[in-house]
Amino acid sequence: MSSVRRRMANLANSVCFKHSVALRPDRRSSPIGFRSFRRSYVVSSSDFANENREFVIVGGGNAAGYAARTFVEHGMADGRLAIVSKEAVAPYERPALTKGYLFPSDKKPARLPGFHTCVGSGGDRQTPDWYKEKGIEMFYEDPVTNVDIEKQTLTTNSGKLLKFGSLIIATGCIASRFPEKIGGNLPGVHYIRDVADADALVSSLEKARKVVVVGGGYIGMEVAAAAIGWKLDTTIIFPENHLLQRLFTASLARRYEEFYQENGVKFIKGASIKYLEAGADGRVNYVKLEDGTTIEADTVVIGIGAKPAVGPFESVGLDSNVGGIQVDGLFRTRIPGIFAVGDVAAFPLKMYNRIARVEHVDHARRSAQHCVKALVSAQTDTYDYLPSFYSRVFEYEGSPRKIWWQFFGDNVGETIEIGNFNPKIATFWIDSGKLKGVLLESGNPEEFQLLPKLARSQPIVDKAKLQNASSVEEALDIVQSSL
Ligand SMILES: Cc1cc2nc3c(=O)[nH]c(=O)nc-3n(C[C@H](O)[C@H](O)[C@H](O)COP(=O)(O)OP(=O)(O)OC[C@H]3O[C@@H](n4cnc5c(N)ncnc54)[C@H](O)[C@@H]3O)c2cc1C
Repeated sequence: MSSVRRRMANLANSVCFKHSVALRPDRRSSPIGFRSFRRSYVVSSSDFANENREFVIVGGGNAAGYAARTFVEHGMADGRLAIVSKEAVAPYERPALTKGYLFPSDKKPARLPGFHTCVGSGGDRQTPDWYKEKGIEMFYEDPVTNVDIEKQTLTTNSGKLLKFGSLIIATGCIASRFPEKIGGNLPGVHYIRDVADADALVSSLEKARKVVVVGGGYIGMEVAAAAIGWKLDTTIIFPENHLLQRLFTASLARRYEEFYQENGVKFIKGASIKYLEAGADGRVNYVKLEDGTTIEADTVVIGIGAKPAVGPFESVGLDSNVGGIQVDGLFRTRIPGIFAVGDVAAFPLKMYNRIARVEHVDHARRSAQHCVKALVSAQTDTYDYLPSFYSRVFEYEGSPRKIWWQFFGDNVGETIEIGNFNPKIATFWIDSGKLKGVLLESGNPEEFQLLPKLARSQPIVDKAKLQNASSVEEALDIVQSSL
């Protein structure tokens, strides 16, 4: 090990005891123990002729793409980094799959290589050639099936054995599915997690007449908007009272619901699916609800959430509350040399003093960058994430209007809504007099840039003044002046 790398490893060892109170009890009770954070670094040859890799990322998604970029920026990728992915393609900006990817075929849908990472954040487009040029070894369509923590080895589905110095787990999530016995695997029933899923959905949409979208969250809202672009008879069904219940207020959701309805989407709220039924051709034909209602459908898209893809890494240490792999503020698991980032990581959300798992692309990017910087440089600052969510729909040419909202902060406390959705609307979450969260629809770039500043500073706001604001612009001026 070079002296620089030895210094870094020592530094990493020394900081691990100084923080993350929430993680400590688990470390003590760890069956593996909390012995030392030092790993033996096994440096591979530059052409990867042996089975040893210095750095291995498992997962070829958003976080992996941004982690690779950070390794490159620090001159630590060439001949040292390998990425093992379940997918057949290089990492890409996954959110595109329910946005540009689902544009109708005559509206220039997004296709690879157009949205490889890091197009979403304005970086180089990391095509398969980019990885080759940077000396990063890629294993495609070969998921990791086993990890041996003591021997520092991974086994892949095809039987490869890879020894790692440091391992970054970036396996993301898997879409929750309906059980097979209620028709969850019928032809015409879709789940969207990767580009292969999106391809299958596009080929169904090409022939579809009646689409049922199950779930009123991001995926449901985005797929229903896409189906309108395809001019399909579209019904959205969910058990809650309104769209995106975990973020939107009822009043805000009503604006979006009205817009979807004006554009032909039918809503069935407060409903649960009993089973999906096949027609004579074996394809899904009907959706049966618990209350006995039957809805005809030749294409069903299920967007009912996702689960962290922890297998086969359970032994690394899971968080029992939020699921996922437990890490500290530098994305270290309790096993020295093993890290987890992105959707799969349960990390300390410093701002709100709680452990969280965040399934959003902004966190995937930032956590990957933070983890790699801590691993290969002297950075010791712990991750301090500000939750942010966004969605963009109806963006295809000729759509009724574009919808683009962003949210920053925590949706706690009472709310004040300003604006009429024509086109702007803003919701402010205020708790104990402090502005905790803010959502803005159809803002301009300067307005969107203000949101993280507000959510991060949590200014005390004059509620009466804010309530009386006559426009979104005036409301933003009022809260900005409290900074
Ligand atoms: C359709 C869709 C739309 C979305 N839209 C938005 C949005 O608008 N805004 C937003 O903020 N977020 C959005 N998200 C969420 C965002 O895409 C995720 O938060 C982000 O992709 C997480 O990055 P990740 O690298 O942790 O996981 P992923 O990008 O999911 O990557 C995980 C990778 O690991 C691979 N993998 C899993 N297990 C193994 C294994 N054992 N061996 C090898 N490889 C494995 C997977 O195949 C995948 O390639 C969306 C997600 C989806 C699915």
